[in-house]
Amino acid sequence: MQILLAEDSKYYRTIMSTILEEWGYKVVVAENGIQALERIEQVNSPQLIILDWVMPEMNGLEVCRRIRASLERQYRYIILLTNMTGQENIISGLEAGADDYVAKPFNEIELKYRLKIGRRIIELENKLMHMAMTDTLTGLLNRRAFFERLEGEVQRCQRFDLPLSIMMLDIDNFKSVNDTYGHQVGDIVLQKVSSEINRVVRKYDFVGRYGGEELIVCLPGVDASLAAEIAERLRKSVEKLTIYLDNEDKKKINVTASFGYTIADKNTDMSNIDRQVFKADEGVYIAKKQGKNRVCRVE
Ligand SMILES: [Mg+2]
Repeated sequence: MQILLAEDSKYYRTIMSTILEEWGYKVVVAENGIQALERIEQVNSPQLIILDWVMPEMNGLEVCRRIRASLERQYRYIILLTNMTGQENIISGLEAGADDYVAKPFNEIELKYRLKIGRRIIELENKLMHMAMTDTLTGLLNRRAFFERLEGEVQRCQRFDLPLSIMMLDIDNFKSVNDTYGHQVGDIVLQKVSSEINRVVRKYDFVGRYGGEELIVCLPGVDASLAAEIAERLRKSVEKLTIYLDNEDKKKINVTASFGYTIADKNTDMSNIDRQVFKADEGVYIAKKQGKNRVCRVE
């Protein structure tokens, strides 16, 4: 696990880095509070943080407050390192948002176990976060997580003046699959189609479960002709998918899906994402009406 060590004293930085590395941590160091915040803003930055209280530029307490005030989703476990162990000081440290504190000069064994607690909390937080964002049946993003991510993506595309396509698909005759084979088979079909869609989209795209047997895909930077190509590729991949219902090859089914998509670009009012989603959904509706297993764009 990565750990951020923010400490202005070279002496402490050196001995602590050495110990932490011995314990198997990958240490990222910062020499003051400003640097600590910069390290945290980077992608894949440490979730476990040791913050010295007294540092130049910005002290540990202020770093702590800023981390807690930011809207990031990932949890950061913060241990304040301090020689200010009076009760009032401890309280102001905890008030600033620290999870724990360790007094200087520190006891190695104590630090080791306090870090262990931090790791446990981070792992639990990450697990909860994953559960809160994932659709249990398909493993795709759930509706809420999809829309949160979509919002960020829309802003990013606007900033860089990129188009964005929203695509939806609905498995054809899903009700008759359920009626004929039972809901368990229906679930398997939904799982297989979901992982196929997830496999075929590009790595920048993301897929969510919109509801029932309907999936939604965000394709950043995709214009109309590319969207048409990708939609067709997805449609074919579902059509080709053979779903085996037992270990022998006897019981197998094939399904198809109907697709709708729309393109948002600089001429679109991107502030209204729901409108774009509605258009993609309308595309699915038209594709169904026209005979299913096809793709329809709504402008
Ligand atoms: Mg210091």
